Amino acid sequence: MFGRGGGTARGRGRFRIFPIVLFGAFFLYYWVSHQEEVPLTGRTQLVDVSREQEMALGLQSYQKILSESRVVPQGEVVEVVREIGRRLAAVSEDPGFEWEFNVIDSEQANAFALPGGKVAVYTGLVPVAENADGLAVVMGHEIAHAIARHGAERMAHQKLMQFGSIAAQMAVGEMDMGTQQAVMAAFGVGAQYGVMLPFSRDHESEADYMGLVYLARACFDPSEAPRLWQRMGAASAGRAPSEFMSTHPSHETRIRQFQEWMREAERIRAESCPAR
Ligand SMILES: [Zn+2]
Repeated sequence: MFGRGGGTARGRGRFRIFPIVLFGAFFLYYWVSHQEEVPLTGRTQLVDVSREQEMALGLQSYQKILSESRVVPQGEVVEVVREIGRRLAAVSEDPGFEWEFNVIDSEQANAFALPGGKVAVYTGLVPVAENADGLAVVMGHEIAHAIARHGAERMAHQKLMQFGSIAAQMAVGEMDMGTQQAVMAAFGVGAQYGVMLPFSRDHESEADYMGLVYLARACFDPSEAPRLWQRMGAASAGRAPSEFMSTHPSHETRIRQFQEWMREAERIRAESCPAR
């Protein structure tokens, strides 16, 4: 189909290769010039904002969310969450975050951590977590997302995806409408299932692993992790999956991975917590 210049009324029209070549060169340049390394796992990632920019964005979102939520001012849950958070942050690859842990009154079984160490736990998580170890599993996972800069990495991928989409549009801009639509639809599906979802599942697995190491270092019980995610799965069954669950790896994958990591986690705990 390349070079089928000056298509007839019935032809598909001309495919322009230049935008694709240009985008390919830009992509390569961008990729090699914005590589960072994830602490603990050593995975290289694409990130194009500075830590400072990321932390400023995190703080801004945190303040907005807190101002629009019912923040629990004090009480046992708040104290427990802050204590767990402090213990996890102290053993993490903390890049100098100003940690803050708050509890939000909401039915959702959810929690989040934003760049800069801004963490919130929803009260709906407490009955599902069941105990301090369970809370530490979720909080460790969320803290790991922030330390591994998964949000910034996703932003960089989305940016490249937009540039790619523009290049694809330019390449098929002179072809007939049906072909253009088919190509753009294929591009959208490919970007979603070929790039965004696999990366999203990788991020979840990475946060599972890092969170498990943190909670073992902080002397929580790592064997609670697979049980906790089982309870989270059961709690979200029958309801629309929370943002938290929807992009996670399959249940089987998750359990298998925790089994693979458990020996290492138990060893870390034994070394970090000799009194046990
Ligand atoms: Zn996650």
